[in-house]
Amino acid sequence: MTAQIIDGKAVSVKCLDKVAAAVAERTEQGLRAPALAVVLVGDDPASAVYVRNKKNACEKVGFRSLAFEKPASFSEAELLALIDELNADHSVDGILVQLPLPPHIDSQKVIERILPDKDVDGFHPYNIGRLAVKMPLMRPCTPKGVMTLLKEYGIDVKGKNVTIVGQSNIVGRPQALEMLMARGTITVCHTATRDLVEEVGRADIVVAAVGRPNCIRGEWIKPGAVVIDVGINRLDNGKLCGDVEFDAAKERAAYITPVPGGVGPMTIASLLENTLEAAKLHDKE
Ligand code: NAP
Repeated sequence: MTAQIIDGKAVSVKCLDKVAAAVAERTEQGLRAPALAVVLVGDDPASAVYVRNKKNACEKVGFRSLAFEKPASFSEAELLALIDELNADHSVDGILVQLPLPPHIDSQKVIERILPDKDVDGFHPYNIGRLAVKMPLMRPCTPKGVMTLLKEYGIDVKGKNVTIVGQSNIVGRPQALEMLMARGTITVCHTATRDLVEEVGRADIVVAAVGRPNCIRGEWIKPGAVVIDVGINRLDNGKLCGDVEFDAAKERAAYITPVPGGVGPMTIASLLENTLEAAKLHDKE
């Protein structure tokens, strides 16, 4: 069997087109364009690229985008004060603080300072809690993007055995909650998992979110499984690769996401969808 490749780039373009159409409709109705504030602290080159991509995507769909680029010396108190200002600004729908932050800033404190209805990353404990009780408000972007991909390809999670490798607050855990909400039977693996090969091998759907190249071996995949690779790893030769041994896994899986071009583009698509949803919430205020 050779797997069907899940084309995240194509699905993300479709999502962005839908968002752009909704923005145009809002304008026709006399409503303002959604506005996203992106805050970058420090000079991490990878973060700068992510911020630029988010800004470009905002402009493409007709959002208003506000960029705040602050030096690494920006203090935690200054950052919290900036968030307070953006929270109070009724013309701002979403606030995104690019992670990682410099070590002198407590990221969790910053995440919790953003109003939950402006937390378009979906990282605030309130939003994770809403997802846990099946009443999501702002859904964490990467796991939400994975669910959109599955839906687009007609892959029903209900009743399936789902193994998620990785339990981070931004990917693995919320992914487990999303899969549970879709009525899958969930296993979450981490470094204390006793038999990763077995847990992966009995999964109908595998989500890898580890951050180690090729750590999920192709031969572990159950024939006919769906393989979603969230990992983004840069190799010494400069190339990007995922967590799954792609060439071997694609010979066993029914569907597989490539890296790049799989889950990655969906994260930005979800971010823009969340910002549109936030704007709709704020229309009612
Ligand atoms: P993270 O916070 O470092 O979490 C990694 C998780 O993997 C941890 O839960 C860790 O377990 C687990 N793990 C590590 N080694 C393992 C092993 N040998 N066996 C089983 N589990 C193991 O990483 P993250 O932020 O979730 O990101 C994961 C990957 O996704 C990274 O490559 C990141 O770049 C990528 N990512 C991609 C997107 C996207 O848009 N596509 C978005 C976010 C992240 P413990 O908890 O026990 O330590």
